[in-house]
Amino acid sequence: MANILVVTEHLKGEFQDITFEMLGKAKEIAQSTGGSCSAMVFGSMSGQTDQMGAADTVITAEVGDDYNPEAYAAAVKSVVSANSPDLIMIGSTSMGIDIANPVSTALDIPTVSFCADIVAAGGGFTCTSQMYGGKMNVVSSVDGALISMVLAGSFNADTGRVSGSPAVEASAVEAGAGKVRFKQLIEPEAADVDITQSDILVAVGRGIGSKDDIEVAEELAEALEADIACSRPIVDAGWMSKSHQVGKSGMKVKPKVYIALGISGAPEHIEGMKATSTIIAINTDKNAPIFDVAHYGMTEDLFDVVEELLEELD
Ligand SMILES: Cc1cc2nc3c(=O)[nH]c(=O)nc-3n(C[C@H](O)[C@H](O)[C@H](O)COP(=O)(O)OP(=O)(O)OC[C@H]3O[C@@H](n4cnc5c(N)ncnc54)[C@H](O)[C@@H]3O)c2cc1C
Repeated sequence: MANILVVTEHLKGEFQDITFEMLGKAKEIAQSTGGSCSAMVFGSMSGQTDQMGAADTVITAEVGDDYNPEAYAAAVKSVVSANSPDLIMIGSTSMGIDIANPVSTALDIPTVSFCADIVAAGGGFTCTSQMYGGKMNVVSSVDGALISMVLAGSFNADTGRVSGSPAVEASAVEAGAGKVRFKQLIEPEAADVDITQSDILVAVGRGIGSKDDIEVAEELAEALEADIACSRPIVDAGWMSKSHQVGKSGMKVKPKVYIALGISGAPEHIEGMKATSTIIAINTDKNAPIFDVAHYGMTEDLFDVVEELLEELD
């Protein structure tokens, strides 16, 4: 019998998808083991418990609406201590990373990170974690209580997006006089392009050499009616905005065609574009890892190839 606590996430008055992904999975495990599913909500989100129909119980914590890692982690620790759930599900997100580790160390409960699947097995749980950007799966079995950090996108959010009227319990948690204060929510800059929706992407990497030379790639993109994307060093150098970055810390794209110009193919980059139907790589280094995933490749200078392509297209 698995009693599960889901630590919800919200932003600007709305529960985040990861909340519903975890709730759907928690409900499935609770039902299969004859256990129960509780959802912990923060601040005024306690007024939206009607969205938590997948949970049997909602536990509220009056720690304010604005995220505060210190206060939220203390609240989760207190609720876990009081309720002793068998499984605590926390998002593998910026907020989840803040919360899971202090709770884990304070209460001596093991944490399994990057969980893409969780099943109840033999009185404990078996988790499958996706490591190295999905290159390797690690299966861990834990007997007894466990914190699992759930990777976003692992479960169907619609399964957990259920209306209802679960029982509501107020926790004894109060906003304490901690050292951390919320000052301001800094919104990401508005994207000038949504590369996740592009059919064709011309992506530039460090091989482009300079900011001025990006113009060559932009010409090719224009001729192909494509959008322009890039690897992270291009953003780090301030040559393009973050909204163009593909990869682990950028966008996950799925175009029909991805033309990689001077991109080596680091795992963190591949993670963001491996779902592309046709990958074309141009790189002077025949050993560049991008050729392991490319459907077509040329070991040529990108400027020569782009010039010839533009002439052909013209
Ligand atoms: C936590 C973390 C998150 C990260 N997230 C991302 C991410 O989201 N996206 C991302 O891209 N990276 C990310 N990185 C960085 C990643 O590890 C690589 O450093 C980065 O992808 C390399 O970018 P690149 O291929 O443009 O540059 P390089 O690795 O320097 O490759 C440049 C390539 O250009 C080729 N080249 C040079 N001149 C020419 C020429 N004239 N013609 C043709 N080819 C040429 C070279 O042979 C080389 O292969 C992340 C790293 C970490 C640690």
